[in-house]
Amino acid sequence: MRPDPIQRIDTAFFWDACERGELVAQKCEACDLLWHPPRPICPTCHSMEKAMQKLSGKGRLLSWVKQARPAAFGFPESPVAILVELEEGIRLVSNLEGVDVDDIKVGMALQVDFAKTSNDKAVPIFRAAGAS
Ligand SMILES: [Zn+2]
Repeated sequence: MRPDPIQRIDTAFFWDACERGELVAQKCEACDLLWHPPRPICPTCHSMEKAMQKLSGKGRLLSWVKQARPAAFGFPESPVAILVELEEGIRLVSNLEGVDVDDIKVGMALQVDFAKTSNDKAVPIFRAAGAS
C-alpha cells in the first residue's frame, strides 16, 4: 500500500481535495496565475491572496521513467513516474497506472484518478484517457 502524503499547513487543501476525488490548484487572486505545487505566495507577483481552483484532471504526458531497481516501500513494483501537462497549463509529477510500458507514448492523453494510501488518504495518479 502506498504511504500517506505528508500534510503541511500549506498543502492540506490539496490532499483534502484528493480524498474527495478532486484535483485542485492554487490561483492567484491578483494576477490569475495557477500554480503547483502548493506554496504560500504567488511565484510571479508574490501576492498572498489566493483561491483554490478545481482542475479538469485532463492532460497529456510530457515525460516518463520506470526505475530499473527494486520497488520503493509501499509499492508492489516500481511505479511509472510521469510529468503531466494539465489542460490548465500547469505541470504535475505523478504516476501512470494501467498502461503497459510498451504502450506509453509521450503526448498521450491522460486523465487523473486517485489511489488510496495506507491510512485511507488519497494521492493523484493518471491513467490513459478513456480507460476506466
Ligand atoms: Zn500573482
